[in-house]
Amino acid sequence: MADYDLAVIGGGLNGVSVARDAAGRGLRVILIEQGDLASAASSATSRLVHGDLAMLERRRFRRVRAQLAERDVFLRIAPHVVRPMRFVIPEHSDERPPWLLRSWLWLYDVLGSRNRLPASATTDVTHHPLGDALKRPFGTAFEYSDCVVDDSRLVVLNAIDAAERGAEIRTGARCVRADRGDVWRLAMIDRGHRRVITARALANTTGAWTSMVAETVLRLPSPKAAAIQISQIVVPRLFDSDNVYVFQNSDGRLIFASPYARDFTLLGSTGGAFKGDPAIVAMTANDVAYLCDAASRYFRKPVEPVDVVRTVSGVNLAPARDGGHVVRDGSMVFDARRRKAPLITMFGGDVTTSRLRAERAVSRLTPLYRNRAGRGQEPRRSRSCLRARADGCRSALSHDPRMGAVCRRHPVAPFEAWPDHQARGARGVGGVHGAGYLERFRANWVPVRVKKTRQNKRL
Ligand SMILES: Cc1cc2nc3c(=O)[nH]c(=O)nc-3n(C[C@H](O)[C@H](O)[C@H](O)COP(=O)(O)OP(=O)(O)OC[C@H]3O[C@@H](n4cnc5c(N)ncnc54)[C@H](O)[C@@H]3O)c2cc1C
Repeated sequence: MADYDLAVIGGGLNGVSVARDAAGRGLRVILIEQGDLASAASSATSRLVHGDLAMLERRRFRRVRAQLAERDVFLRIAPHVVRPMRFVIPEHSDERPPWLLRSWLWLYDVLGSRNRLPASATTDVTHHPLGDALKRPFGTAFEYSDCVVDDSRLVVLNAIDAAERGAEIRTGARCVRADRGDVWRLAMIDRGHRRVITARALANTTGAWTSMVAETVLRLPSPKAAAIQISQIVVPRLFDSDNVYVFQNSDGRLIFASPYARDFTLLGSTGGAFKGDPAIVAMTANDVAYLCDAASRYFRKPVEPVDVVRTVSGVNLAPARDGGHVVRDGSMVFDARRRKAPLITMFGGDVTTSRLRAERAVSRLTPLYRNRAGRGQEPRRSRSCLRARADGCRSALSHDPRMGAVCRRHPVAPFEAWPDHQARGARGVGGVHGAGYLERFRANWVPVRVKKTRQNKRL
């Protein structure tokens, strides 16, 4: 008998979401991460949990609806890391006409659930706190509701939840070889020690490394995909209000400016094709200048490249269609050949739909485990709450009266209440995300043993 039902390679958002869903259905799961959880793209995101207005412009209505539904799920299951915010688009006479923006936002309200978050509105910001940070000509702004997330904590919470459901989470363990027979035989270097395990199925969720892992570790053809680098900059705080500003840049691109670690503003994002080692991602001076110019068009306080305290870059893999056309949706391929152990390859996508895509991926797997987990198991366990225990969050209500009702239903821990955010200055900002998170958070749960839960006993 194989040691595990499912081995997951990669501890980013996609990997932990698959591990959590599978463990929740009673599968014996191991997750192998070469660095720390969320040490790559999943801690470099723009931190938006949203339906994506840009997709609305491209008439991807079904996608936007699905994303907004998932946004609501996250708001319910992880209110301590996902919090509602008002997004503000200042009206710019040279850009999209006001009627177009108004109709987008009306559609956005219709596609989303209106009873959960406040609807969109048009606001005169001339004598309004929202306008304080903006240049004079901006008299009107469009407001709408969406959410922001603390991305790396969402990953860690997913992993903790998976561990509590019986999964084994191994950080600092690199998968170096996987042989496919009727079961997978995996070799890993686990904190300096070679270890071999067997698993009935394998999930390759290694983000930007997916093709490399497919070719060199699994020795299978790599998926048709292109690597895209996305970058943002962190500058000293540009505005006092707890809002996200959305700017229409002259090239039509939407630029987001959001509060970051109390004293800073995160400005993003730029994107472009990426080549090289995904572990070494740097932002170009041109991209920094592009974001500074975009922000300076809107904010009173000009933003110069010397103001940048940190750049945040990550590489995402996006499926490439025939003709090299890259699509922003994620990809999930399920490969189950006769007499061969199944393989899930999942990459790209966004934070917002990560849970749903993991649920779909594991649903392809569970019929093969009918005598174990396919029957009698609740298939939607990932819709239950992500536990807050490890974050030590305390409840607090938002001071924004428009958000009051929502926040009373979903107690939110202010980001500032978290220990990492007490650190000030550029070095403190650097320490908020990425590798070392577990060690810093004194959560001594590596390695996590498979617990004898009620589900495991039945296997
Ligand atoms: C800069 C940026 C901004 C984004 N902003 C948003 C946003 O605002 N909203 C949104 O919804 N989405 C956003 N996205 C998309 C979303 O964040 C990503 O799609 C998602 O985080 C990708 O997660 P992942 O698990 O596939 O990859 P990753 O997080 O990169 O994880 C892959 C992991 O695999 C590990 N690994 C690789 N090889 C091995 C091996 N051999 N053995 C063990 N482990 C291995 C790596 O160490 C890494 O930790 C953004 C993406 C980027 C890059």
